[in-house]
Amino acid sequence: MSLFILNMDKTIEKIVSLCKRRGIIFQSSDIYGGFSAVYDYGPLGIELKNNISQLWWKEMTQVHENIVGLDSGILMHPKIWEASGHVDAFNDPLVDCKQCKARYRADEFAEDVSSLNWEEIQCPKCGTTGNLTEPRQFNLMFKTHVGPVEETGTEAYLRPETAQGIYVNYQLVQGAMRMKVPFGIAQIGKAFRNEIVARNFIFRTREFEQMEMQYFVKPGSDDDSMQEWKEKRLRFYQEQLGINQSKIRFHEHGENELAHYAKEAWDIEYEFPFGWSEIEGIHNRTDFDLRRHEEFSGKNLSYFDQPNNERFLPYIIETSAGLNRMLLTVLADAYWEDEENNRVVLKLHPRLAPIKAVVCPLVKKDGLPEKARQIMDMLKPHFKVLYDQQGSIGKRYYRQDEAGTPFGITVDHQSIEDNTVTLRHRDTMVQDRVSIDQIQSAIQDKM
Ligand code: ATP
Repeated sequence: MSLFILNMDKTIEKIVSLCKRRGIIFQSSDIYGGFSAVYDYGPLGIELKNNISQLWWKEMTQVHENIVGLDSGILMHPKIWEASGHVDAFNDPLVDCKQCKARYRADEFAEDVSSLNWEEIQCPKCGTTGNLTEPRQFNLMFKTHVGPVEETGTEAYLRPETAQGIYVNYQLVQGAMRMKVPFGIAQIGKAFRNEIVARNFIFRTREFEQMEMQYFVKPGSDDDSMQEWKEKRLRFYQEQLGINQSKIRFHEHGENELAHYAKEAWDIEYEFPFGWSEIEGIHNRTDFDLRRHEEFSGKNLSYFDQPNNERFLPYIIETSAGLNRMLLTVLADAYWEDEENNRVVLKLHPRLAPIKAVVCPLVKKDGLPEKARQIMDMLKPHFKVLYDQQGSIGKRYYRQDEAGTPFGITVDHQSIEDNTVTLRHRDTMVQDRVSIDQIQSAIQDKM
């Protein structure tokens, strides 16, 4: 496992350069030479990211009547991170190579780090043996100060996960919305981790977005709920995002991998060009978090089950996905080098594509641009479309193939006569002749 991390696979390199070329993702602070492990989303990237997060949001808060949304602060009371265990235990074991100064997470070498003798391990970068240090613990939380004076007692943390914001609001949400267990709270937001090794493009970054849903259940029904959410989440990747089924799988956490709060944990993994890696975690967190927050806040956080006249502390099943990792999954799954036609295509599902159609007048005269503009005005209120009259029609199509645009609409001389256009399909390159008043529904059907 350790060696793959050094060779960012060729396919990933190609995706990185396509993302830059097409305005999907840029490295942060580019004109200053970049800023490690942070990325900026360009015009097409933000569209794609929004499409993905909106699908998730809809799946959680619209399709499920008993799940509601929340947007809590990035900065919170510092005691929250003591209660959650992050101050004491959110550490990664760090290993340095004394020879070449390369830095690793110890668990990149083996799942069970305690079994390793570091004296005998070869540095994957410089190849020397006996130069790796014993692992040191390194806390991943970013610390900052609140107020003008940096003194003890003013420290705060940038949240390393969105989940805690849900736990500390759970009673307010439950009361305000009159929720009955089982119910869920969903949240999308930024999280920050001072990762030791940030590699593989947007897979592991220091600033990222999480999409977390915490499902509050009656103790005893947690195992069934876990099963239900595992199935639902897997279906989301296949049915909503259209991810290739053979590239997605579950991985169960063994005893050594289980986090301090978890009774049972599963990862959904995708087969990236750099290997199988986690994109989402589904965890049974028991009543660990609410119990700890009761202890640290002194507040009673139990739920009153009126029909049965009993009080209990709910168990929590968590589904925790990284939006950026989900986006990388979508990109890696969609990337296609169509050698036969000498083009690169992002085979994005039309639902996810940043731009749904490009509208092209065949030539810049004879009233074709005006007709194309009319089509733009007709489609604009319904979905994102792009007008392009620059270059040969073939070049215009290929530019959009790379950006994942599923449809090309071309206005030619016949359009003026009979009000039809050609509708080109990105993946097959097949072109149909369709009436202008049918384009909108033809495209919407595919979305
Ligand atoms: P890993 O083992 O890869 O560090 P984790 O097990 O610590 O991840 P969780 O704490 O379960 O991850 O976080 C839930 C999700 O948040 C992950 O499945 C991933 O999609 C996302 N995530 C976590 N850390 C990062 C990061 N540094 N960059 C991008 N996404 C991340």
